[in-house]
Amino acid sequence: MQYNKVNDGIIEELKTIVGAANVLTEHEKMEMYARDEVSDQLWEKMPEVVVKPENALQISEIVKLANRELVPITPRGGGTGLAAGAVPMIGGIVLSLEKMNRILEVDTENLFMVVEPGVTTGEVQKTAREHGLLYAGDPCSADSSFIGGNVATNAGGNKAVKYGVTTRHIYGLEIVMPNGDIVTFGGKNVKDVTGYDIVHLIVGSEGTLGIVTKIWLKLMPLPKYVADLLIPFADMQTAIKVVPKIMTAGIIPTCLEFMDSLSIKAAEMYLNKKLPYSDAGAYIICEVDGTSETQVQDDYETIGKLCQENGALEVFVADNKSTQERIWKARKSYAEAIRMLSPVYCMEDIVVPVSEIPKCLEAIERISKKYDCKIPSCGHAGDGNIHATILREGRDDHAWHELKDNVLRELYEVVYQLGGNLSGEHGIGAKRAEAMHKHMTEAQLNVLRSIKKALDPNNIMNPGKVLVLQ
Ligand SMILES: Cc1cc2nc3c(=O)[nH]c(=O)nc-3n(C[C@H](O)[C@H](O)[C@H](O)COP(=O)(O)OP(=O)(O)OC[C@H]3O[C@@H](n4cnc5c(N)ncnc54)[C@H](O)[C@@H]3O)c2cc1C
Repeated sequence: MQYNKVNDGIIEELKTIVGAANVLTEHEKMEMYARDEVSDQLWEKMPEVVVKPENALQISEIVKLANRELVPITPRGGGTGLAAGAVPMIGGIVLSLEKMNRILEVDTENLFMVVEPGVTTGEVQKTAREHGLLYAGDPCSADSSFIGGNVATNAGGNKAVKYGVTTRHIYGLEIVMPNGDIVTFGGKNVKDVTGYDIVHLIVGSEGTLGIVTKIWLKLMPLPKYVADLLIPFADMQTAIKVVPKIMTAGIIPTCLEFMDSLSIKAAEMYLNKKLPYSDAGAYIICEVDGTSETQVQDDYETIGKLCQENGALEVFVADNKSTQERIWKARKSYAEAIRMLSPVYCMEDIVVPVSEIPKCLEAIERISKKYDCKIPSCGHAGDGNIHATILREGRDDHAWHELKDNVLRELYEVVYQLGGNLSGEHGIGAKRAEAMHKHMTEAQLNVLRSIKKALDPNNIMNPGKVLVLQ
């Protein structure tokens, strides 16, 4: 597809649509929009222009202009993505949703919240809590990711074991489609099978099928009691083998996470705080919640006992907010803490059936030895989602790219042999598009291509992401 450059005429039209103050063209001001949280320069690209619309009507006008002029649009939320999805790899307009940051309604009778896409996930969680309710989406990036970005990536996170990923918390969307039409699907109805399930097609589409401009979120009663367990083990294999035992003990934990020894050390360095048993081979971190204190206590005692019988070095229980926060800081800092080991790294997001995690971690260890590189791992054990991270350390560009290619090729082969997939929650973006094409069948790719072509015939919505179209 041949695109046109953003010229002075287009910039003037953009200024008319959103106001001059909401159009950025200066290099220094656009710099922060040239990357997301992928640490490799390979996945950076300067926008030609950044626009900050304030409502769906303005977005519709921008999309119509982009179609007329054949200029790509890259929607951007909080920029915390780990797949280079919000980076304008083919240039064009970056459309930042940062100004659409209002909470429009909290409906405590029907248990819904209606929000604009630029509200941070943390603000959504806090607002729900203030009304005695729970918004159960909980990515580790909640303080800075936007709820629209969570919808676009179908973000997972810590509470997905019990409550499910973002798609389970969405009942309706307003979307500016790639032709500029503003449409709403779903809303406050708990059940709705009127026509195709467009809401759940758009969730996880990474800005390639439209721009989300309003979201109807599901709220739930806030669990009264919560307890967290931090359980150190001498080695990773002993730790991870306890996970299927917990999952089949008749309890649904809210969270079930793991960290290997390198991740624990990185967190300790990053937080500059001694962590308990920081020389352990692995941590399992588990949360249980409920409306009855005895039920929550029974659950964590059962899990603690299971871990003790299966090689735990200790079981720490936290049933108050400050100790709970201390435990979660270590786990939630992973993506930032890993920079303490190597400023450049390649964080993967592979997912395998829970029972196959031990084999997958064994393979990661074997590959790391074979290529003489460090690959710390951490992730959502209860979902089989492993963030294995290849560290660049002192390698030059050539050695680094060769290392990544070799490790990823072998890692993905293992993942597919184990019945897994490339990405559990971070998405495909630009970073994994080539790998996704390699691992999907032509028939699968054709389904994706047909949807994309039908909705976005000019391929202006986030080109180069998810699908590579010629
Ligand atoms: C420290 C850290 C921890 C993390 N932990 C988790 C985790 O636990 N679970 C998890 O799933 N992810 C996690 N992530 C990854 C990231 O935070 C999520 O992918 C998040 O959902 C991205 O939201 P964002 O607003 O930052 O989106 P961005 O990075 O800005 O964009 C992501 C994608 O969504 C598209 N997009 C954004 N807004 C819209 C919109 N309104 N309409 C259409 N398309 C849009 C963009 O084009 C892009 O393709 C983590 C990242 C970091 C840095």
